[in-house]
Amino acid sequence: MIPVIALVGRPNVGKSTMFNRLTRSRDALVANYAGLTRDRKYGEGEINKRQFIAIDTGGITGDEEGIDSAMAEQSLLAVEEADVVLFLVDSRDGLTAADEMIADHLRVNNKKTYLVANKIDGQNHDVAMAPFYELGLGEVYGTTATQGRGVKSLMEMVLEEF
Ligand code: GDP
Ligand code: MG
Repeated sequence: MIPVIALVGRPNVGKSTMFNRLTRSRDALVANYAGLTRDRKYGEGEINKRQFIAIDTGGITGDEEGIDSAMAEQSLLAVEEADVVLFLVDSRDGLTAADEMIADHLRVNNKKTYLVANKIDGQNHDVAMAPFYELGLGEVYGTTATQGRGVKSLMEMVLEEF
């Protein structure tokens, strides 16, 4: 079984940067995978010879209207489709109301979720990650999507379950 991993979070937290790093922009041929549709952006990735599919999403702001609500809808559909969710937050912004709204949804959804505090470059990691424990989603994993810091170890852990 090839796990499907959805990247969700507010706009601008680094989802697409993470997606490109994980997949090296290799598009997944959705026709090869049962259950995937053409509506979302999929990519194929491999770490330590273990393959996975990543889904990039547009982001959820918490007060959606118009195009934003379509983006949020796509994000929620990606969660439904996925085996695992990487919930990205921006460690520079600290905890926001939208993060809390997304966390509430993920809790109800009951999918295996990893809370990823991105953009930890140039910050004290413990201080940067501390506020996100309040979301009650367990461990917080620090990453720098632009440089790949923390990404491989996170993905090894995620993929271990499959
Ligand atoms: P998305 O809207 O969640 O897909 O976010 P993007 O991947 O488009 O990234 C938004 C901005 O944050 C871009 O300018 C990225 O270069 C920047 N960014 C992403 N990850 C990191 C990171 O780990 N550290 C820093 N400093 N910037 C990052
Ligand atoms: Mg994006």
